[in-house]
Amino acid sequence: MTPSAQSTPRPLAEIASYHAHVYYDPKTSRAAAERLRMLIGQRFPVRLGNWHDVKVGPHDQAMYQVGCATDVFAALVPWLMLNHGGLSILIHPNTTNPRRDHLVDPLWIGTPLAVHGDKLPEHDEAEEPLAPNTTPHLPA
Ligand code: ZN
Repeated sequence: MTPSAQSTPRPLAEIASYHAHVYYDPKTSRAAAERLRMLIGQRFPVRLGNWHDVKVGPHDQAMYQVGCATDVFAALVPWLMLNHGGLSILIHPNTTNPRRDHLVDPLWIGTPLAVHGDKLPEHDEAEEPLAPNTTPHLPA
């Protein structure tokens, strides 16, 4: 997993899509998470995933997923930097190695949280972007 200075750079073509995982506390910050979800949907062509009020998979807190195509990243991520409202957000590429995507190569907005990589495979199909389920109508 340690990058070698000698290795060939990985090409951007490895990235099939991105996920942003928006974490919240069901008791204290669900309202903030609901508001952020609404604002995202008004502005970006993304796939808003299900609410997970209990921990699932490698995630250490309640969260929902926002899936986006690679060409949405450059607007969505800076917008989340400005508007995360104190929530922790994990942003990771989707390549053929979910464990590396989540543990080694992600970025965080807000406070980083634990991610349980033992629950993730080292090899999988790279997830292509799912069809957006939002109807953006406001400028970011
Ligand atoms: Zn993900």
